[in-house]
Amino acid sequence: MPGAQPAAGAPVTLADHLIRRIGGEGPLRLSTFMGEALGHPTLGYYTTRDPLGAAGDFTTAPEISQMFGELLGLWCAQAWLTLGSPTPVHLVELGPGRGTLMADALRAMARTPGLTASLRVHMVETSPSLRARQRTTLAALPATAQPPHPITWADSLEAVPEGPLLLLANEFFDALPIRQMQKTARGWAERCVTWDTAEKRFAWALDATGGAELLVPPDLRGAPEGAVVELCPAALTVAGEIGRRLAAHPGAALVVDYGYDAPSLGDTLQAVRGHAYAAVLDDPGQADLTAHVDFRTLAATAVAAGAAAHGIVDQGALLRRLGIAQRAATLKRNATAVQAHAVDLALDRLTSPDQMGRLFKALALTSPGAPPPAGFEPSEGRSP
Ligand code: SAH
Repeated sequence: MPGAQPAAGAPVTLADHLIRRIGGEGPLRLSTFMGEALGHPTLGYYTTRDPLGAAGDFTTAPEISQMFGELLGLWCAQAWLTLGSPTPVHLVELGPGRGTLMADALRAMARTPGLTASLRVHMVETSPSLRARQRTTLAALPATAQPPHPITWADSLEAVPEGPLLLLANEFFDALPIRQMQKTARGWAERCVTWDTAEKRFAWALDATGGAELLVPPDLRGAPEGAVVELCPAALTVAGEIGRRLAAHPGAALVVDYGYDAPSLGDTLQAVRGHAYAAVLDDPGQADLTAHVDFRTLAATAVAAGAAAHGIVDQGALLRRLGIAQRAATLKRNATAVQAHAVDLALDRLTSPDQMGRLFKALALTSPGAPPPAGFEPSEGRSP
């Protein structure tokens, strides 16, 4: 934590930068604080490090097992065939981390004749350090899985060329900045972040001047005092862009993340550092900040932009329907006892309801009129 008011000159830490902004502008919206903490161009959390894996702050499904990316790759291959094998097709990943999911997906997709050669791969990634890591991961792919067309990087989905689309996003939407509205005795107010000069730490402040009530969904406005409602405008911008593209061109998108499947009350902002929860406002730029994803609103926004929505399905159910048990059995056939045990552990972690199987959910978006993608057939309903 910063000690005192920073001296003039370039800020040395993100905390110093935020203290200065608060000094000049007053309390910052949570979305501003979170956006800066994660994405500041030189001092942000993602900008400055590779946060993934055992030595980092958190682990994600593709880092747990190759099975996750392989099955998502097969999902894309199936969607491509169903859509009539459009060529070329843009394969886009939002927030690709270390590039592990894309590498595993490309290896799996190489088994579908004609697909690899049709791909135009685009990695939507803002972090320079993770871009470098993704390049290294993808360069190590076997020649048969390397798309002949060079892979490109973009800062946003808007910067990816238009056309037929296959899109994957795992643990991307939870990293987008949220706003929080809180019900007070005098009505709804926005939760903002200020600098407590006496305590020398960031602290919450409520702003009742901004018309917060209008931003709260009407059916939640009568919530009791203390209730918190979260909004993620950046997520809705991306969902709208995906929906618009799927309405204009054949395509399918798969979003996997932790979240809830009905608009609800509650503060889900969390900070994670060194695989443990941390205080959300302390040490901005040094901890991962995330919030649960509001899948219903995401789906409704993409549908309003012209796409069809399928799901929401629990991650465990989706992976089982895509054949994770069979894939695990195949991997174990050629494995040592130690490796086989690791496959069993990964299978359990990815699919069990008490691990990632239920908290993580999947939403599929397709062009209107396309049949439900693999794992989203309506007869299969929601998993128990
Ligand atoms: N999908 C990966 C990484 C998840 S971490 C996995 O499952 O392992 C979140 C990823 O999103 C990181 O790569 C981060 O740099 C990226 N990211 C965060 N905000 C972003 C934004 N606004 N635009 C593009 N990428 C972003």
